[in-house]
Amino acid sequence: MSKIDFIDYICRPYCMFFREGEKEEMACLGARVAETLGEKALFDPEESAAWDKDESAWRDPDRDALLFENVCRPCEFRAEDCEYRSDDPPADAEPCGGLILLSLLMARSLIDKTALENCL
Ligand code: SF4
Repeated sequence: MSKIDFIDYICRPYCMFFREGEKEEMACLGARVAETLGEKALFDPEESAAWDKDESAWRDPDRDALLFENVCRPCEFRAEDCEYRSDDPPADAEPCGGLILLSLLMARSLIDKTALENCL
């Protein structure tokens, strides 16, 4: 287990839907995959919590396609609750915090397609 809770390095710094004090019943797949990668020590959650939320990381088309196939397609939230992956997303829609962190990890070459596949 990581020393810090995933709320502290996934939801609070990166998820636009996070509300302090609100308890979610279930985490989206992006957060669960990011947590698994942290537990495998592929990155340091305490360090990643302080990274810039750099939009270019998740706007990269190739990276986005890879994250869609490996994380969003099987995510239980995609069909009804995910604005970012809806048929007509608003221009300012953001992915969940987990997917943002995964895109930042890929942009920094800390994880790749194989690392994602090994989490599912
Ligand atoms: S961006 Fe949406 S579909 Fe993709 S992992 Fe996050 S909640 Fe699920």
